[in-house]
Amino acid sequence: MFKKILVANRGEIALRIQRACSELGIKAVMVYSEADREAKYVKLAEEAVCIGPAPSAQSYLNMPAIISAAEVTDSEAIHPGYGFLSENANFAERVEQSGFQFIGPTPESIRIMGDKVSAKQAMIKAGVPCVPGSEGELSDDAAINKRIARAIGYPVIIKAAGGGGGRGMRVVHTEAALVNAIQMTKAEAGAAFNNPSVYMEKFLQNPRHIEIQVLADKHKNAVYLGERDCSMQRRHQKVIEESPAPGIPRKLIEKIGERCAAACKKIGYRGAGTFEFLYENGEFYFIEMNTRVQVEHPVTEFTTGIDIVKTQIMVAAGERLPFTQRQIEMRGHAIECRVNAEDPFKFTPSPGRITMWHPPGGPGVRVDSHIYTNYFVPPNYDSMIGKVIVHGDTREQALARMRTALNETVVEGIQTNIPLHRELMVDANFMNGGTNIHYLEEWLAAHKR
Ligand code: ADP
Repeated sequence: MFKKILVANRGEIALRIQRACSELGIKAVMVYSEADREAKYVKLAEEAVCIGPAPSAQSYLNMPAIISAAEVTDSEAIHPGYGFLSENANFAERVEQSGFQFIGPTPESIRIMGDKVSAKQAMIKAGVPCVPGSEGELSDDAAINKRIARAIGYPVIIKAAGGGGGRGMRVVHTEAALVNAIQMTKAEAGAAFNNPSVYMEKFLQNPRHIEIQVLADKHKNAVYLGERDCSMQRRHQKVIEESPAPGIPRKLIEKIGERCAAACKKIGYRGAGTFEFLYENGEFYFIEMNTRVQVEHPVTEFTTGIDIVKTQIMVAAGERLPFTQRQIEMRGHAIECRVNAEDPFKFTPSPGRITMWHPPGGPGVRVDSHIYTNYFVPPNYDSMIGKVIVHGDTREQALARMRTALNETVVEGIQTNIPLHRELMVDANFMNGGTNIHYLEEWLAAHKR
């Protein structure tokens, strides 16, 4: 096992990884930008290294600064967390070339999954069901593209191979609009992602977002840890996640989960990963794979009792997965609310000093957050300041626990989206379960203030 790991991230996930290291008896070296000097995990750290000024490009995305921090502290491995450099194949490669273990999959896996066209091709080969679409990248041949779209059936969606964060997509409803839409998406993709290649998929009208968590080791063992329903989204950003997904038969989840685990073995995947699917009319359609730990991993930690971050570190060190698929049992129901520093209904960011923080507690309540009373939320980064996660025997109990937890939570000095969560937890349709990816935006439009 490693003696020392460098944590190349910030915020709640930096603290989460620091906690996992502490439990494993590993020293965690924390890095921070000038804006994060006062962070809780920096204060708790035995060793911390400033890697640059506030802007991410000069700190958390600064590869040479991070690698030299690992060198000067004699770290053996680097945990990238999520966001920032976590899905950057060049970074993973540079980490390994500098003699450190990258806590995540191989650079090749990251590269294949980072390009949506090659990811989809790999999934089709591995027997994972995908959204019907073009076989690969679209050419400039209008006649061929029209033929592809006709075969798929309108509406179709044009997507950038290198796209991410919900950008680089365009829905097309009629043949008359097709050629122009392809040209425009290509031009945008070239400018935004430095990769003009685009592909075509059937546009699913009212899907749910269902994802499968996997864990794999370096010895060709891979398991799935059930699913998460992340359909409550705004602008393609997840707001609430839960497991199990309400109303989806276990048999279907098991079938798709087994496919994902088998695909991991086939592509030599290692570490934690998530297969994201759209789910409509009883069918799963792969859209992309995330090759890192996800914000919503605690939901699965609650339902399976497995520590995903500790397991990531153990398999990176070469250990075998300490459980088989048959030993993994799902218990109860878990829900996560992401807490953002923002206006709860207008969504304008609300950084600044937190004058009072009182987190919720009690049975089945978990709070992952790096904030504290008197902490200053810097304006430079993502607005998420923490997560409240609950677990209950049933979905009803989990909902009741979440309501109780949110009512107990006090954040003063800045605005947060907790008032929005409080309303959603008593919304009849959400309480019924199974709302689709458009539900939250429709709800917000209907509850405008
Ligand atoms: P990104 O990497 O930018 O997040 P994804 O491929 O994961 O891109 O897609 C993001 C979101 O776009 C999905 O969660 C879904 O809401 C929508 N989307 C993507 N592909 C389709 C499709 N074929 N049909 C309907 N919606 C889609």
